[in-house]
Amino acid sequence: MSAWRALEEVSGLALAAMDWRRSYGLNLAALGRYLRPTNDLAESLDCPATPGGLHTVVHHGPGDIVGVCDHCPTEKLSKADIVIQRLDVQSLCKDIATALGLSSGFEIPAPGHYFIGELVPSPGSRHGVHLCCSNAPAQLEDAMFRLTGNGKQGFIFLTPTSRFWTTTLRDSIETATAHLMSLEEVLDLHAKSFSASVGWRSFLDTLVPRTTTKAPPKTFPTPQGARWNELAIRFLTGDTASVTIRDARLRVSYTDMGMARSDNANRSVQWEMLEKFAEGNGYYEPKHQARKEREKQQVSRLGRALKVYFKIDGEPIVRDGQGWKTAFVIRPEGWEEPEEESWQDL
Ligand SMILES: [Zn+2]
Repeated sequence: MSAWRALEEVSGLALAAMDWRRSYGLNLAALGRYLRPTNDLAESLDCPATPGGLHTVVHHGPGDIVGVCDHCPTEKLSKADIVIQRLDVQSLCKDIATALGLSSGFEIPAPGHYFIGELVPSPGSRHGVHLCCSNAPAQLEDAMFRLTGNGKQGFIFLTPTSRFWTTTLRDSIETATAHLMSLEEVLDLHAKSFSASVGWRSFLDTLVPRTTTKAPPKTFPTPQGARWNELAIRFLTGDTASVTIRDARLRVSYTDMGMARSDNANRSVQWEMLEKFAEGNGYYEPKHQARKEREKQQVSRLGRALKVYFKIDGEPIVRDGQGWKTAFVIRPEGWEEPEEESWQDL
């Protein structure tokens, strides 16, 4: 569970310094840098050993402070441990907006409901972005109703995690052609910062209309009547692959396959998904439950891109257990076939 859950669980976003650190893992380098000291001191701390248990703070004298617990040895505390720190949610939201490429803006329409900016993926298309922090599903639904009640459409509704999403919430999102995502899903937490995730970039891809000025991708010289199981893709570098169907063999780049991002010369999410299939020798399974829906869409888009490029009938990627498998052979960079099975026999 990521540190984002603190935004849902800590009421008033105020807690003793020791609790932020010990219960939520907020160190100074990561989200801890948004904590600001208040003038208040905690009278108790969370017990790290017993869920729901408390360490009562006892002041014996100046500089002599201890935490007393029924289950743990008495712990020596400093004033810095028990000072109440409040999370500066406005600074945090500003940095989230920057990481996600939003226009700036900050409002608090209701407690725990923050408007953090607008996403403008293309001229004339604007999506308000709202962050709602609560561990009460009803409060998330209320925030949603406030937006839809005002006739808002196409907005982006973020919650720290997806733990408190309800069917009602999802249904309202769908009716409003809005988007429901978690911070866990759209941001990757690093040791000292956070940045937009692949999931967020892929979401941006779905919002940007395909530009007509972009040259249509070249297609592969697929031999007449070839089938998916005759195709073999072997990654040569992160950007190129060797592609073989019968006697047709080409070294191609992501651009050749129509898998460059529309805004620049970078690899698209489809190409990155193709690489994931290569790493699994043709199998891929979502690692994070929260990203499963998004990745399902990515796989489906990859399938369409492959059909366009190779002009082969049937499905190039099919469901398999908890993941998907390719109907063709695909191998990662530097892969060596085991002795007994040659490339063609697979
Ligand atoms: Zn204890």
